[in-house]
Amino acid sequence: MRRPPIELHRGELRVTGSSLHLDATRRVECAFVSHAHGDHIGRHDRTIATDATLALMRHRLGEPKRRPTEHLPASFRAPFGLGELTLELFAAGHVLGSAQLRVTRNGVALGYTGDLCTEPTHAAEAAEVMPCDVLVVESTFGHPRYVFPPKDETLLAVRKFVDDARSDGATPVLLGYALGKAQEILKYLSDAGVPCRVHPVVHAVNKVYEAHGVPFPNVKALAPDEGPGFDEVVVCPPHLARSPAMRGVRRRRTAILTGWAIDGSRFFKGVDAAFPLSDHADFPSLVRYAKATGAGRVFTVHGHEDELAAALRKEGIRAEPLKEQTQLELI
Ligand SMILES: [Zn+2]
Repeated sequence: MRRPPIELHRGELRVTGSSLHLDATRRVECAFVSHAHGDHIGRHDRTIATDATLALMRHRLGEPKRRPTEHLPASFRAPFGLGELTLELFAAGHVLGSAQLRVTRNGVALGYTGDLCTEPTHAAEAAEVMPCDVLVVESTFGHPRYVFPPKDETLLAVRKFVDDARSDGATPVLLGYALGKAQEILKYLSDAGVPCRVHPVVHAVNKVYEAHGVPFPNVKALAPDEGPGFDEVVVCPPHLARSPAMRGVRRRRTAILTGWAIDGSRFFKGVDAAFPLSDHADFPSLVRYAKATGAGRVFTVHGHEDELAAALRKEGIRAEPLKEQTQLELI
């Protein structure tokens, strides 16, 4: 039987019969990096990514000390050759610079979404549909129970949480990942004139966003041992809520911003509220997206692969989870 055009090789995704890896975390000869979240990046001999992703990677990984890395910046919708492959990037709408990749070989187009958010966000390029024959789609929220309310509704609920806390004399603390989630809520609040203070880790990522044309007009870094002003909102990554930089933040009222909030706030310790603000597509959006690409064959990866593949099969699409043994069976 023929091998699929993409395979899992020692836990890393690779375009079959080529040296092109996708979001490899171990060092490889050549990798496309869809975006700069930690579980998608590594130091490679050659890295293909958007300018913004390369800048965010440099910020997160620092400059290599010994073996140099060759960076190949790529723009959206500008096809280029790599050996016998033609590559083209499409915006993924997940975080700044996030991209999907379409690889065309012998007239067959293989699409890889990376992490995908089809609903417009406040701090990433709007996702584009990537027409292809074979699609590899992420399935983080690929279970039917993950249906997110409209983003505007969620943002209004966060705004109400913030206003209520402030009128009670408490400091609203919003917990979100340093790259992507933090910028989305900051963009929303700061553009609305709400003054914000951020953990220094978030502030450093904001600087990269600002260098790429996304300003945050009312945002300052938390100063050591100095609390926020009475009307300021604090934004911090969840794992740093008790870090020294947050020492001066008293009378907190805390909310976490994550798609997993659909599972209920009881799953999050030490928070007063949880809001399903996600930078991933929910289940209906993933199904809609896979259909919109026109792909006749779909492989699901990362998350609820079985449930999403089953849903796509119900839609008449040949779909299956991409697993290491899938490749062995198909050879
Ligand atoms: Zn991600």
